[in-house]
Amino acid sequence: MMQPLRTDILIIGAGLAGSLLAWRLMQAGKKIHILHNPTFTSSSRVAAGLINPVTGQRLVLQKNIAALLPAAHKLYQQLEERFHTQFFFEKDMLRSLQHDKTKLAWEKRQTDLNYQGYLCNVAGQSDVIKQHQTGYLDTNALLDALHEHFQKHHCITTTDVQQDDIQRHQNHVQWQHVTASTLICCQGWREANAGFFSFLPFQPAKGEILHLFSPNKLPEHIINQGKWLLPLKGGNFKIGATYQNHAKDEQPSESGKHELLNALKNMPLAQADISITAHQAGIRPNTLDKAPFLGMHPKHPNIGIFNGFGSKGSLFIPWYSERMCEHLIHGTALPSEADIQRYSCV
Ligand SMILES: Cc1cc2nc3c(=O)[nH]c(=O)nc-3n(C[C@H](O)[C@H](O)[C@H](O)COP(=O)(O)OP(=O)(O)OC[C@H]3O[C@@H](n4cnc5c(N)ncnc54)[C@H](O)[C@@H]3O)c2cc1C
Repeated sequence: MMQPLRTDILIIGAGLAGSLLAWRLMQAGKKIHILHNPTFTSSSRVAAGLINPVTGQRLVLQKNIAALLPAAHKLYQQLEERFHTQFFFEKDMLRSLQHDKTKLAWEKRQTDLNYQGYLCNVAGQSDVIKQHQTGYLDTNALLDALHEHFQKHHCITTTDVQQDDIQRHQNHVQWQHVTASTLICCQGWREANAGFFSFLPFQPAKGEILHLFSPNKLPEHIINQGKWLLPLKGGNFKIGATYQNHAKDEQPSESGKHELLNALKNMPLAQADISITAHQAGIRPNTLDKAPFLGMHPKHPNIGIFNGFGSKGSLFIPWYSERMCEHLIHGTALPSEADIQRYSCV
C-alpha cells in the first residue's frame, strides 16, 4: 500500500499547461503532485511550438503581446539555464501576401506604430513580408526535461484519472493516497468530454503535422503561406498544420497527409528527394471566444481549471501560469478575459 501523501496542489495533466504551472508552483515553494496519462496524445507533444505575435489573414497583433512575449522569453530562458538545454529558438518568418485580405491588411499595418518591430518589407519582393519576434519552442525537449525533474522529486504519477476517483471534501480533495488542498485540471481537450469543467464551451480542433527530411538546402526562415514550414537542424523540417473542427480522433489521416503534401508543393524549397519521417495528429484545446479557461469551479471551490490555450500554448502559458500561481497563492484576481466567471453558467 502507498504511504499517504499530503500536498498543496494536485494537478491532472502534464502537457505544457500542467507542467509549466507545476514548475511555477514549485518555484514558489508549493508542494505539488501531478497525475497524467502518457498513453493519451498530448497536444503539446504534437505542436510545432510556434510563437507568432501577428496572425491570421488580417495580420492581427495578439492582444496583450507586450506582457505575453516577455513572460514567455523570460520563463523559457530560466528553464534553459536550469536544464542547460536550448528550448526556444528565435527565427524570423516570411509571410506570403498571396491573399487580398493580407495584402490590404499589410497596407494598413505599415504605418501603424503598434506593428513596428513585428512586420517589415523584404527588399525586392512585393508578395512577401518578414515577421520578427517569431520562433518556436521545442516542446518535447522541454516536457522531457520537466518530467524528469518531477520524477526526481517523486511528484508525478502515471495514471488514467476518472472524475469519480476524486473525492471532494470541504477543505481538501483526495485521489487514492494523495490528499491535496486544491486540485487543478490541465487535461487539454479531454476536459471537454468528461472533466469537472465539461460545461465550459470548449471547441476542440484536430490538427496534423508532417515531419520531413530533405537532402537539399532548406529555407533559412519559417515560411507562412497559411500552412507553415518550419526548418530544423540536419535537413529536417516540419509542415503544418491542418485544422478540423469537431473531429475527436487523434489519428493521422490520409486526407491530412494529402493536404500537407499539397501545401509543400508551393513552398520555396527544392522538391526532389524529400521523405516523410513522421506524421502526427493532436487536438487543440480551443475555446469559444479563443481565450483560455482559468478559475475555480462554481460548486467545488477547491477544484480549478488551467486550460483552453488553443493554438497558442507556447505564447500564452508562461504569462497565464504566473497569473494562476498568484491567484492560487495570494488570491489575486485572474485576468477577466480568461476568468471562467465570464460565462453566465458559472
Ligand atoms: C497540430 C497542432 C499544432 C499546434 N501548433 C502549435 C504551435 O505551433 N504553437 C502553439 O503555441 N501551440 C500549438 N498547438 C497547440 C498546443 O499544443 C496547445 O496550446 C498546448 O500544448 C495545450 O497544452 P495542454 O497542456 O493544455 O494540453 P495537452 O498537451 O493535450 O496535455 C493534456 C494532458 O492531460 C493529460 N490527461 C488528460 N486527461 C487525463 C486523464 N483522465 N487522466 C490523466 N491524465 C490526463 C494528458 O495525458 C496530457 O498530459 C498545436 C496543436 C496541434 C494539435
